[in-house]
Amino acid sequence: TNPRAWDAYIRPSRRGLLVQQGDQLWHRVSQDLQGRLSKPTYETWIRQARCRDYADGLLRLEAPNSFACGWLRKNYLVMIAAVASEHAGRQVRVEVEVAPDAEPLGGPPELVGENGAGPATLPPVATPERPQASAASGAAHAAARPLPVQQRPGAGLNTRYVFNRFVVGANSRMAHAASLAVAEAPGREFNPLFICGGVGLGKTHLMQAIGHYRLEIDPEARVFYVSTETFTNDLIQAIRKDGMQAFRDRYRAADLILVDDIQFIEGKEYTQEEFFHTFNALHEAGRQIVIASDRPPSQIPRLQERLISRFSMGLIADIQIPDLETRMAILHKKAEAEQVALPRELIQYIAGRFTSNIRELEGALTRAVAFASITGLPMTVESLAPMLDPVGNEVAVTPQQVLEKVAEVFEVRIEEMLSPSRKRAVSQSRQVGMYLMRQNTNLSLPRIGEAFGGKDHSTVMYAVEQVEKKLSSDPALARRVQQVRDLLQIACRQRR
Ligand code: ADP
Ligand code: MG
Repeated sequence: TNPRAWDAYIRPSRRGLLVQQGDQLWHRVSQDLQGRLSKPTYETWIRQARCRDYADGLLRLEAPNSFACGWLRKNYLVMIAAVASEHAGRQVRVEVEVAPDAEPLGGPPELVGENGAGPATLPPVATPERPQASAASGAAHAAARPLPVQQRPGAGLNTRYVFNRFVVGANSRMAHAASLAVAEAPGREFNPLFICGGVGLGKTHLMQAIGHYRLEIDPEARVFYVSTETFTNDLIQAIRKDGMQAFRDRYRAADLILVDDIQFIEGKEYTQEEFFHTFNALHEAGRQIVIASDRPPSQIPRLQERLISRFSMGLIADIQIPDLETRMAILHKKAEAEQVALPRELIQYIAGRFTSNIRELEGALTRAVAFASITGLPMTVESLAPMLDPVGNEVAVTPQQVLEKVAEVFEVRIEEMLSPSRKRAVSQSRQVGMYLMRQNTNLSLPRIGEAFGGKDHSTVMYAVEQVEKKLSSDPALARRVQQVRDLLQIACRQRR
């Protein structure tokens, strides 16, 4: 080909593609991080960063200034890489550079942002129908082929749920073997394959792994993954609008159908009726059916007898609660996938505490990693144990704790905060204290005023507004506020 044409046409378009893929990946990663980090942390560091490009497993980000760049590198690189790898379905490295159009940093960080360095808006991204599956698979294929692979309509599979991320233990050996068999030779021996087991034990993972593997073997296969809820909704929709024929044509076109959480069909007479016919049509045509449920068919209440017998005619494979060794292996694998070094002692500790639900087990690991990366605490049982209980982000603390922790982080004395002093450092810490008390206790504005030595409620209100405003533009302040929050969280967990 003509090298000119390459330069003028193909290269820029490939570059455009890399940017676009990067934007999409970064959009997902940053949304994910939004759920994991505190609001100011997110607003200050993550939201303001932009994607430069993404190719061959390297995600390059741009920070709005050198300070933010340094901070991101130091504190969030591991976490961003872990989350990005999860979304891309491969290991992703992350680099941060200062944006070419960054504002110059004249003074100390406190001065940054006074003149409109507000949060940058994320690039607009077309939201695909199934954000997780399609964005991630697009990125996952990016390295091998420059063009994003069209997501097969209806597949809707999560890229993380593949066989080689599934740890096989004595608890799941049978279900795993049957799943492999079904993916390799669909419609033969085990039809339907009925996978049952308690919440969070890997049914969805295993089921989707079948879909992925089938598509790997036969990229033309029509693989449908559908929750029972979606099936029901589609049915209702069909009755109202599209017409039953379209509904039937669609579902009966599947070569492999994966129906999740069938227990929700309980008592839904009409859905059961239609599902019965769908089942029969597919089964007679030799298509593979895989069903997941939190209990065996005979124990689903208000399930028609004829469905119970259909569901039981293939193989019922159950997943039991994993033993300690398997739980440790799962944590180990997950840590590896996220590129975090997890000491064996911590793995053992987490695996010992979360026994009956792998989703919670993984959640504990994620919390530990996030917490260590935010606070800089070492990954040891001692420092992380207080964070590992499965509770929400809400922290209920006492007003006295707020005063103590603010004083500690802002290096002022509590008496000063309660005094009328107008020294800058003191009044700033006082404002932060009022703000955090408002957020983390259920005291009213006047009561907060009292807690600060008898200040007026309008003073408290003003303080709260001021801090809210400054948090998005003042990284140094945001960092210290986050430190106080972390300390409060530790304090309140240690009390429990
Ligand atoms: P279920 O559908 O049974 O409620 P999921 O399949 O959604 O459970 O699994 C919950 C989480 O635990 C998922 O993130 C999944 O990847 C993970 N998980 C479950 N079992 C395993 C396993 N054996 N190996 C690795 N990860 C697992
Ligand atoms: Mg599930």
